[in-house]
Amino acid sequence: MTALDRVITGGEVLLPDGLHRVDLGIADGRVAGLYSPGSAPGATDRVDATGKTVLPGIVDIHFHVRAPAYPERGTVLSETRAAAAGGVTTLFEMPISKPCCSTPGEFARRRDHFRDNAVIDFALYAAPGDLTEASRDRMLDLGAIAFKIFTTPAPANRADEFDGLAFPDEADQLRALTLLAGTGRPVVVHAESAGLLAHFEAQAKALDPGDAATHGLSRPAICEAVAVAKLLAMNITAQAKLHIAHVTSAETVQVLRGFAGTSDFTAETCPQYLFATEQDVRRAGVYAKVNPPIRHQADQDALWQAIADGVINYVTTDHAPFSRAEKQAAEGDFPAAPPGVPGIEFILPAMLDAVAQGRLNLKRAHDLICANGAKRYGLYPFKGALMPGSAADVTLVDLASETVLSSDMLHTHAREVAHLFAGRSLRGRVCQTILKGRTVFLDGDVTGPQGAGEFVTPPPEHDAQIAVAAG
Ligand SMILES: [Zn+2]
Repeated sequence: MTALDRVITGGEVLLPDGLHRVDLGIADGRVAGLYSPGSAPGATDRVDATGKTVLPGIVDIHFHVRAPAYPERGTVLSETRAAAAGGVTTLFEMPISKPCCSTPGEFARRRDHFRDNAVIDFALYAAPGDLTEASRDRMLDLGAIAFKIFTTPAPANRADEFDGLAFPDEADQLRALTLLAGTGRPVVVHAESAGLLAHFEAQAKALDPGDAATHGLSRPAICEAVAVAKLLAMNITAQAKLHIAHVTSAETVQVLRGFAGTSDFTAETCPQYLFATEQDVRRAGVYAKVNPPIRHQADQDALWQAIADGVINYVTTDHAPFSRAEKQAAEGDFPAAPPGVPGIEFILPAMLDAVAQGRLNLKRAHDLICANGAKRYGLYPFKGALMPGSAADVTLVDLASETVLSSDMLHTHAREVAHLFAGRSLRGRVCQTILKGRTVFLDGDVTGPQGAGEFVTPPPEHDAQIAVAAG
């Protein structure tokens, strides 16, 4: 038997079939075994989890740091430290960077940059770039976890960040879906209709730029619903492994319901849509501007219902830090403000709070931010589960204690613009984060070293065999 390096003892552990009072043995960065309490063979290092709940580390499939570009907004080091503090052990970085991560060369450069700096594990999305098979295959060889496209045009003055990523032309969207259908990797789409956006943005020019409602009216829910409906219709033919990013509205939920069973598609939403409404945007101003916009109570209710019904099975952060100067310069001017909020330290306490409120059970809440993503992207059960052979990525939480969101307690470089959820008191607290057996966050302090994180790709065969071995 392998000697254990570490044992997590005394806690309740979330296994694929629910909570169990077991001890978790770790060897060589992996889960070596599950033992009845107190019966694990001797290990030099014991983590006392008494009173805590032991979860598989969170897998966030939608994250932006944009590095190595824009270090003033946050770096791989600062934002993966924040992720560790949020109980996240694996993040999937989106391809927006300067230049866009739409060429093999840029992909390799970003991969190396993340390897040198990340405190937790990471995967990288590729943008499909020139839509050729050659470029697609090179991205797969380099280890792209999946592909991302936008149905919207590049924002003003950001053409290079969206080159090979933004495909407002429907023929290009269909080409992308068809090109990527055979890869076995998901195609994630930011879906808002370019034509309708242009129309509503033009109309919104007559409105007060400082009013939070103006942003919502410039990108109403119909823009999202129409784009999603078109993509789902195209995918009846293309049959790509389609994933709709950040669903915000009741209309889009209705579209998702209508297309059920017509192709292999999934959809996510984010805490900013589940835990905030336009009222919160009024209070926080441009610091709460995101695209698509945060909407109304009826939309929030529809999203929770979609989660209850299994229409939406993923909750992601869409973490997107901006500098204080950038948000400050656009105060009172929603159209000019950069879109994005830093949410990586909010997602887990927020979902735990939803459990405490009785909205959903712990397993479902956790699956939405962990196992479901790991499964959809081919990483499960190496990531997203605690079973023999899985990565020893573990988050210890205290369900009974509170997290009070404030800029002081946040680790993100964007803590000064994190106004959307500031002051919220949530039931549930992240106590410790363990990456492949090593503690990277403990009681408020990030301890994981720069470069501890590894690049993650859909696993080679020996990892796929864990599922078989673990039954
Ligand atoms: Zn995003």
